[in-house]
Amino acid sequence: MTYRLAVPNKGRLQQPTANLLKQGGLAYEKTDRALAVPVRNMDLEVLFVRTDDVCEFVADEVADLGITGTDLLSESGTELEVIAPLGYGRCRLTAAVPKASNVSSVEDLSGARIATSHPVTTQRFFADKSIPIATVPLSGSVEVAPKLDIADAIVDLVSSGSTLLINGLRPIADILESEAVLVGRPGTLDRTNGTIAQIVLMIQSVVAARRKRYILMNAPKSAVPAIEEIIPGFESPTVIPLAHDGMIAVHSVVDADDLWRVLPELKQAGASGILVLPIDQLIA
Ligand code: AMP
Repeated sequence: MTYRLAVPNKGRLQQPTANLLKQGGLAYEKTDRALAVPVRNMDLEVLFVRTDDVCEFVADEVADLGITGTDLLSESGTELEVIAPLGYGRCRLTAAVPKASNVSSVEDLSGARIATSHPVTTQRFFADKSIPIATVPLSGSVEVAPKLDIADAIVDLVSSGSTLLINGLRPIADILESEAVLVGRPGTLDRTNGTIAQIVLMIQSVVAARRKRYILMNAPKSAVPAIEEIIPGFESPTVIPLAHDGMIAVHSVVDADDLWRVLPELKQAGASGILVLPIDQLIA
């Protein structure tokens, strides 16, 4: 049986998703016209669809797994599960009002008209807080709606916040944190055979590896306790004797975010010839 993975065919999530699958070792050739392409080294087809449609394809069992944004999963109203967060496509769904507005909290939006391309999520957020609002569903250019006086406020995706600023809008509250996610139908992982588990492990191993670096260095043997203290490693660092007496090589894995601290400390502890390498895949 051939399984299917639905991925974005264009837009912001397209290239990072292609990079993820390539780093995981999936071999396929994307053409501009093909909707689905076979993966050469796995019992899998990659299905290229609009980012907004990924959830629908998975929910309708056209695909077994999909990659899309949490915001679109929330918006789709489908009962899919997040199998793995993917660490890219990060943004927030934010409520904002014109700078001059008196509104300072979501409660102040009672009775407001809110322009958004995420009406389902917006309705749910305000209904949960028992705040009556009316959505003005738009598919794009949401940020200009207050200027055109078709809305009093907006709910839109924001990453840096500069689009809000440019359009004279002030953020009030975040209503959802979003990033790219791997989704499947409930129970997909339990029900199916090894292929799905292989794809999930492949994707998770790439995501885990991106936050880590492989680090190698030489040092005097006497420095091992100090080095071990600085980089505890996964379980323990690998220590290898070198040809020159009293010298060792240390190999370990460190958090990429910690490198700024770890490198000077290692140098201070006596390490030299320190190399930092990227890791393609990591299974803890
Ligand atoms: P697209 O409209 O195809 O470019 O994809 C939009 C998706 O990319 C959204 O649904 C989000 O999941 C994600 N995304 C990440 N950052 C942003 C952003 N700053 N603005 C809009 N979408 C973003």
